[in-house]
Amino acid sequence: MTERSASGIEHAAVAFIGLGHMGAPMAANLARAGIDVRGFDLSPHAVEHARVAGVPIAESAAAAVAGAGVVITMLPVGRHVMGAYTGTAADGSDGLLALAAPGTLFIDCSTIAVDDARRAHELTVAAGHRSVDAPVSGGVMGAEAATLAFMVGGDEADVEAARPLLERMGRRVVHCGGPGLGQAAKTCNNMILGVSMIAVSEAFVLGERLGLTNEALFEVAANASGQCWALTTNCPVPGPVPASPANRDYEPGFASALMAKDLGLALRAIEATGTHAEAGSLAAALYARFAEGDGAMRDFSAIITDIRARSAAAADDPGGAA
Ligand code: NAD
Repeated sequence: MTERSASGIEHAAVAFIGLGHMGAPMAANLARAGIDVRGFDLSPHAVEHARVAGVPIAESAAAAVAGAGVVITMLPVGRHVMGAYTGTAADGSDGLLALAAPGTLFIDCSTIAVDDARRAHELTVAAGHRSVDAPVSGGVMGAEAATLAFMVGGDEADVEAARPLLERMGRRVVHCGGPGLGQAAKTCNNMILGVSMIAVSEAFVLGERLGLTNEALFEVAANASGQCWALTTNCPVPGPVPASPANRDYEPGFASALMAKDLGLALRAIEATGTHAEAGSLAAALYARFAEGDGAMRDFSAIITDIRARSAAAADDPGGAA
């Protein structure tokens, strides 16, 4: 199935590059919907896992891209996206941009910096292709259940061309503006999330130290102006929200390492734009510190355990620098 409709690229074969935690289930959902998917990953382990999940596998990036009308990337960070696009050969001939047929639609679903996304868009257009940035929220469970939310940046026609594919992997597709603005929306949203999780966690620890029960604070704040997703869905203390990661020893969920990464991207954007975002900058520093240690693979709500431990240490040693 490699036809192209007049309105863009529909029913085209899809090269899916990056079959990790997110990419494998996303690609599997496309394959399940009857789309001609050719998955590729550098890691044999990821390839095998994706194959078992139902993703047809190509032997190389070149084989995945041959005859494809769409290239979807789901890679860790910006340098991987740039590297995959431009290749390792001096002339870029082994990169996805050179391998793809002219007019291919590139959809990058990775979470990367806004300036990297804009650069990727420029390179894509210069190579004669079309591109959108389409980072996601919803995590691995959303990827598996095809309930992801896509935040999309790009030209209207390209976003509309991508939409039918995105709708097979998610249930919400928001066109946020021109190239890079999908990443901008993701960055701003996750900065809200990081800051609000720290605020909620500090409030619970302060409440505990004042003699307030977690249940009482939850009952008040969840029904008052303190209400937010970090409190009512991903509550950092066990009990009030039975499905939150705090009830299973902070098994993610959304790992602190990923929150630290996303806040690092926010910090980069804050600095690049000269935005006076002190809380966002501080949240980036606090999550970076937490993710350096054994917090990395715990849910991001586990930062409350760090706040609690530091509070206890400071109380034990009021003159110290805990
Ligand atoms: P992952 O590390 O599990 O998967 C990335 C895969 O890319 C790996 O299997 C790696 O081998 C592969 N890869 C790297 N370079 C490659 C290349 N040049 N060619 C082919 N394959 C290559 O990461 P993930 O959890 O799937 O996350 C992917 C992206 O989605 C990240 O940007 C992440 O921030 C974002 N994201 C993740 C989540 C989550 O909950 N995991 C949620 C939202 C967004």
